[in-house]
Amino acid sequence: MLLNIHTHQAEKQADEQIIYNYIIPEVEEELASFTENINANDWLSIGIHPWFISENNQKTQLEKLRQLAYNQTVKFIGECGLDRLKGSPLPLQEEIFIKQIRIAEEVKKPIIIHCVKCFNELLSIKKIVRPKVPMIVHGFNNNQQIAQTLLERGFYLSLGAAILNLDSNAAQILKKMPLEKLFLETDDSAISILEIYERASFLLNIPQNILVDTIFSNYLEISSQSIKITQ
Ligand SMILES: [Zn+2]
Repeated sequence: MLLNIHTHQAEKQADEQIIYNYIIPEVEEELASFTENINANDWLSIGIHPWFISENNQKTQLEKLRQLAYNQTVKFIGECGLDRLKGSPLPLQEEIFIKQIRIAEEVKKPIIIHCVKCFNELLSIKKIVRPKVPMIVHGFNNNQQIAQTLLERGFYLSLGAAILNLDSNAAQILKKMPLEKLFLETDDSAISILEIYERASFLLNIPQNILVDTIFSNYLEISSQSIKITQ
């Protein structure tokens, strides 16, 4: 089974286990009816995206997240994080991100992170807050040095459609990635996760079935690591 750790497409395109992402809405009316259609068999990540932090309803957004976070179907908190190019002012993004890290700690679930041009801030937050739950930076496509630093500080990296472009940072990084820190995803792209696994196994020069098993066991590992945490 191909694990697709982060997608916004509810429709499966291959023999895959998707972790479908729900973004907590900004608007009050949408917040009220949100998740009425959650299926008990889904695997979800739920979080407040840094683009959609409500100035007025952030408390309700956080309450909604805390409520849902305990649900069995919710496997990750996020995507949450920091974006220098879009969304609320950075100090507010940081505050809401830290609050979501605390919720993840409370429910003992790993965090899936959106980070655009804020890696120093991300590293400082990790240093200050010291979350024990694993943190995965999703859609990573930055340079080798940032990748190296994140890996050294214990982050996991999830790579997506960018690896299909051989000149991308993501494709270059993949070749040197420690496999036990790797995840793959489609995010909002229309590309099939199968294509991403095929390309990854080519770049890593390992059989696809080994890659599939490794990534699935990485998932089991971060989930059990989270559950074992004692506060
Ligand atoms: Zn996403």
